[in-house]
Amino acid sequence: MQGSLTINRTIGMSHDLDLADVIPVKTALYRLGYYDPPAWGITADADKRMIFAIKAFQADHGLRQDGVMKPEGITLRAINDELTSLFPPSPPRTTQPRKDLLLPPPAAEPETRERNQPYHPESAPKAVPVKDEEKDGTYIWRTVGDGNVRSSHAARDGQVFSWDHPPEGGHPGEAPNCRCRAEPVEDKKEKDRQKRCENLGRLMAAAQANLNNASDRWNNAAQNLKTAKDNLDAKRLDCARARDEALTNIGAGAIVGGVTGGRIGGWPGAIGGAAYEGASAATASLERIYEACIDDSTEMAAYNQAKQEEASAYSWLEHYRTELSTHREEYEQLGCEG
Ligand SMILES: [Zn+2]
Repeated sequence: MQGSLTINRTIGMSHDLDLADVIPVKTALYRLGYYDPPAWGITADADKRMIFAIKAFQADHGLRQDGVMKPEGITLRAINDELTSLFPPSPPRTTQPRKDLLLPPPAAEPETRERNQPYHPESAPKAVPVKDEEKDGTYIWRTVGDGNVRSSHAARDGQVFSWDHPPEGGHPGEAPNCRCRAEPVEDKKEKDRQKRCENLGRLMAAAQANLNNASDRWNNAAQNLKTAKDNLDAKRLDCARARDEALTNIGAGAIVGGVTGGRIGGWPGAIGGAAYEGASAATASLERIYEACIDDSTEMAAYNQAKQEEASAYSWLEHYRTELSTHREEYEQLGCEG
């Protein structure tokens, strides 16, 4: 009834309100121009907009702006006064409606009302009719969510229907005075694409982090390998120096031997040959010792290990680099950015 809003319990941010009060309160505040319904209409949810509306009403009427409305309170009385003055219970009107706060009146009274209740201004913007070419696949049934939605439609709210198979009474908006609308189901492909983009974003971040780690690891390994190579080169020099020293001694020994031999044989040529043979056998053996000096060195072991680590680190670096660029390519192909 016009101008007689009643509530069961106190309404306010910190009050345990009665949800049954929400739609009547929102509707009343809406009719007075204070409640600004969201695009999906006036619903039974206790939202902040309702509290804001109460506060705005209180502000305009010199009341304490606490957003609280009690069943016997002054705010409710003021709302009812205003409702009565704007929507007098019976003609003739004594006060003109505040036209600036009202929606344009409906062109004509609808023949059939949802649930045959008194006609209220549409609580949600008129649904844009779905174009025939968009009537493809499925849609979600949406009601305006107020108390005037017929129960058969209220039961369908949020359910998915196929454009090919209308439920009883037709698609949303087809039944007389039906204010329901068909909410397009987001294209599955698009949803999948967005999901993939999200995944790729995560994969790219992971690959980038791995790549950074791999890059650090490889830099270390390359540095270590260089040090190991320097150490090995130094070892080679040591081994060569030792070999050359030994060779000099062998040479001296051979000459000494030769001289001794020469003395025995009395033939300088024989002397030379014996000395040469003895020296070359010793030299060959020294070559083996020299190789072993290098090959069995801790420097060589460290060098081999460093080489292996560098190769491994590099292959991981390449791996993550490839992984990142593969993901990035797909990311760009899917148009994930922008
Ligand atoms: Zn409907």
